[in-house]
Amino acid sequence: MKQTGRDTGAARATSEREGSGRLEPSRRATGSKPDDAALGATPPPAEALAQAELAPGLYLVATPIGNLGDVTLRALAVLRGVDRIFCEDTRITARLLARFGVATPLGLYHDHNAEQVRPAVLAALRRGERIALVSDAGTPLVSDPGYKLVQAVIAENLPVTVVPGPSAALAALVLSGLPPDAFLFAGFLPPRQARRRRALEGWSSLSATMIFFESAARLAGSLADMADVLGDRPAAVARELTKLHEEIRRGRLVDLAAHYRGAGAPRGEVVIVVGAPEQSTPDDAEVGARLRTALAELGVSAAAARVAAETGLPRSELYRRALALRGEEP
Ligand code: SAM
Repeated sequence: MKQTGRDTGAARATSEREGSGRLEPSRRATGSKPDDAALGATPPPAEALAQAELAPGLYLVATPIGNLGDVTLRALAVLRGVDRIFCEDTRITARLLARFGVATPLGLYHDHNAEQVRPAVLAALRRGERIALVSDAGTPLVSDPGYKLVQAVIAENLPVTVVPGPSAALAALVLSGLPPDAFLFAGFLPPRQARRRRALEGWSSLSATMIFFESAARLAGSLADMADVLGDRPAAVARELTKLHEEIRRGRLVDLAAHYRGAGAPRGEVVIVVGAPEQSTPDDAEVGARLRTALAELGVSAAAARVAAETGLPRSELYRRALALRGEEP
């Protein structure tokens, strides 16, 4: 797998399975819950899915990030049912297909040929063909090729759908132990240090968990820059997810950077997950000073709200203190 640039990024694709046994790319958005009516009460066996007729369109198919057991039934059915699968590296995708007895013809779609191949893919879709796009591993478009293709498909109002499945970003997030409620997937940081630090500065005040792809060779350097630019936050390095030597190392950025500086570049693939800035709790004297300043121009309630926003302290507690400062009883 490799880092990609031009044709990567996030895109919106909508999907729907119709009850007829047809796997149907659609232009209509649906809810996020599994569609029991379409799937049946119990999941259909792989053979049933394999026999379902596929509708024309582009299928964005996620594939395993290591453990082949993570391929979904629907991914196999779609990979079997399409007319052609476009992939980054035919050797890698051929191994996956051989493992599951899928004989669909392969085409190449990667950063170096995308400009030439995209018109041919679009022409095939206009003819009503069924095309799958996969990457070497994980979800296509996520730091992998496909974004411009999806843009072009949407622009022509051709059908596109997604067959969701593994992605290293979400796997690392949920294993990190860091808050998953709000997160930013930041892809790969720039390889050069000055640009990397500038990129990190751009994210430094973001109040969300951040997820970065990184190469093992640059891991220690990136962790050191993160510790420097973002401060010593809680973080995790997820390595070789779903594979034999899966490892998750949780700690603070300074310690993680020191560990990998000492241990050298680890083997395999890594994702770095970094916690949001920790709100430092101001001491009593500082809280009192902030409240007095706020009370000089605001009422008790507004002053408490302002200091709550500034410090992250509970508003009710600040309200009581503000009342006391005004000489009033709560
Ligand atoms: N599109 C893929 C996805 O959805 O997971 C990511 C492709 S990106 C080119 C490759 C990067 O993903 C690697 O450099 C690494 O940061 C991360 N990655 C992929 N597989 C991984 C694994 N099994 N364990 C840890 N990180 C992985």
